[in-house]
Amino acid sequence: MDFKVLGCHGGESPKHQCPAFLLDNRICLDAGSITNVLTLKQQQKIEAVIVSHGHMDHVRDLAMLADTRTQQGGPPLVVASTPGTIAVLKKHFFNDKLWPDFSRIPDPTQRTIIFQPLKPEVTSDVCGYKVTPVPVDHTVEAAAMLVSDGSTTVAYSGDTGPTDKLWEHLHGIDNLSALIMEVAFPNERAKLATVSGHHTPDSLAKELKKLGVKKRDLPVLLFHIKPVFQRVVEKELARIKARNNTILQLDDEYVL
Ligand SMILES: [Zn+2]
Ligand SMILES: [Zn+2]
Repeated sequence: MDFKVLGCHGGESPKHQCPAFLLDNRICLDAGSITNVLTLKQQQKIEAVIVSHGHMDHVRDLAMLADTRTQQGGPPLVVASTPGTIAVLKKHFFNDKLWPDFSRIPDPTQRTIIFQPLKPEVTSDVCGYKVTPVPVDHTVEAAAMLVSDGSTTVAYSGDTGPTDKLWEHLHGIDNLSALIMEVAFPNERAKLATVSGHHTPDSLAKELKKLGVKKRDLPVLLFHIKPVFQRVVEKELARIKARNNTILQLDDEYVL
């Protein structure tokens, strides 16, 4: 699977972009920064956005992506997520107040967006990919997403604090090629990380032990560091020994 970083931070500045990752140039994991990074042609090639949860830093570019798609025409954009997150998007985002309801534009039979609810811990087909949401621990309904193209699976944590279910699922995936994993705050902000459902390097190190011996060398691609704490979090992450960790950077591209 081709994997491109469009945004990998827990905040925004000219040097930091909110989370969004592109698989095979046609599937997005979250929508924190799509339209500020991709050309119109590249945007048109996106078939689906798989949304981990309804927080603004993960969904905001659905707004312009949908608006542009309406003018570009072509097949509808699939927005896939767990039922609770889709309900949030319908009620609070595409509600004809904050933003038009693009699931009824240009008309109810020719929709710009199709919402696809994904049952937690059940594998569904999203534009040819097998996607399994696994509920994680955040401040709102949130799910890690396991995405398989049939030969390779990547796991995307979305935003989460400590959790067990995700790691249990990972143990059972033989063709797992990488875990895209969140970490947000420095160790001294552990309290804030706990109440906001995020990780510090210390809590992440504890969590990674749940990978067990069999998967201890799994590539772990880290994202969601808060820009204000970038340097200190990077220093603290460097102290986590014996793990195949990489801190993602903007424009990074991997074949997973
Ligand atoms: Zn969040
Ligand atoms: Zn976030």
